[in-house]
Amino acid sequence: MKRLVLAGGGHAHLNVLTTLAARRWPGVEVVLVSPYPRQIYSGMVPGWMAGHYRLDQCAARLEPLVAAAGVRFVEDSVVGIEAGARLIHTAGGEAIAYDLLSLDVGARVDTSCLAASGATLLPIRPLEAFVAGWEAYLEASRQRGRARLAVVGGGAAGVELALAARYRLGQLLGDGPAAVSLVVGSALLPGHGPAIARRVAATLAGQGVTVVAGYAAGDADGLLLDDGRHIAADCVIAATGVQPAPWLAASGLALAPDGFIAVGDGQQSVSHREVFAAGDVASRVDAPHAKSGVYAVRAGPVLAANLQRAAAGQPLQPYRPQRRSLYLLATGPKRAIMSWGGLAAAGAWAWRWKDWIDRRFMAQYDVGMSHAKESQA
Ligand SMILES: Cc1cc2nc3c(=O)[nH]c(=O)nc-3n(C[C@H](O)[C@H](O)[C@H](O)COP(=O)(O)OP(=O)(O)OC[C@H]3O[C@@H](n4cnc5c(N)ncnc54)[C@H](O)[C@@H]3O)c2cc1C
Repeated sequence: MKRLVLAGGGHAHLNVLTTLAARRWPGVEVVLVSPYPRQIYSGMVPGWMAGHYRLDQCAARLEPLVAAAGVRFVEDSVVGIEAGARLIHTAGGEAIAYDLLSLDVGARVDTSCLAASGATLLPIRPLEAFVAGWEAYLEASRQRGRARLAVVGGGAAGVELALAARYRLGQLLGDGPAAVSLVVGSALLPGHGPAIARRVAATLAGQGVTVVAGYAAGDADGLLLDDGRHIAADCVIAATGVQPAPWLAASGLALAPDGFIAVGDGQQSVSHREVFAAGDVASRVDAPHAKSGVYAVRAGPVLAANLQRAAAGQPLQPYRPQRRSLYLLATGPKRAIMSWGGLAAAGAWAWRWKDWIDRRFMAQYDVGMSHAKESQA
């Protein structure tokens, strides 16, 4: 019997679990190590913040999935890998040996420059801590009757979070003041093309989000910008760039220049044939691409196929990530902006499209709910 350890319940591993639930792999014992009993889907988080979804609509429950897949679930975090000894270590003190290891633990947010902020600092990851922090901040704002929020990060996530926050705080506080600033570094939406950046800038202005160019550091009552300007804030949401977990550096696995696990065709580690990785934790050295959920989702089926093939000693299936991806950015009220290969368009139809895609995505992992519905019928 070979042991496959799945580290992290990320997008690609959800697909491995549903593949196993459809048909188990003979001769393979599977263990999932992940710190929470659910996987919150980041694509729906801005819609949840804005008040359009309940949290349970945006989260896949892992326990019913692992039960259906015949997988042992260890609710814990990986804190170390000894690739030479084929061992992982968990925060709870377990050492788990593996024959095959697959990593889908995502990435962290670099908040080092914001640590000195006297305002409530809310890093977007881990999402579990973020959702608890956002709920607490909404309640505190309701009691104060005002809000002064800053979002740091000019990428797609920062834009969506700022617009969702502005919309929700406006709903919550009515005529009370709700100031939202978005600090974007050198430019808004780098890498998305001028048409979408212009459209997003107009939407931010129309919704009352103040866009601030510059780099921010935390200070006693908010943020200090690199040109000396100050932004007073009672909450700072950090949607700054991604960075790898620090324990990867000591794992013995070959890393890409960005510090994430270097993988090649088939999502296999370039240094250790028994190790695979997908999603934000992996960097394809042969076909570099952005760290985004689209790539993590698309890698899922090939990862599942290749883990099964590796366990059976069969050749791996090659996989070429797509070059372009569709982005649908939620913009606060039930509207969205579509970005595809430099083209941009916006409207309520784009929100309905995004909502349909996201709900359909989540429905695949609704194993527990469909069981519950069947038993009620
Ligand atoms: C607000 C927001 C909106 C976004 N919207 C989009 C979008 O619309 N489209 C898009 O393409 N991308 C979007 N992204 C980016 C997207 O979220 C990430 O690229 C995607 O989540 C990466 O998926 P993943 O599977 O690599 O990791 P994750 O989704 O982060 O999953 C990682 C999993 O590993 C677990 N884990 C973490 N650490 C450990 C550990 N030490 N040990 C074990 N388990 C661990 C976590 O609990 C989690 O289950 C958005 C990001 C944010 C923040």
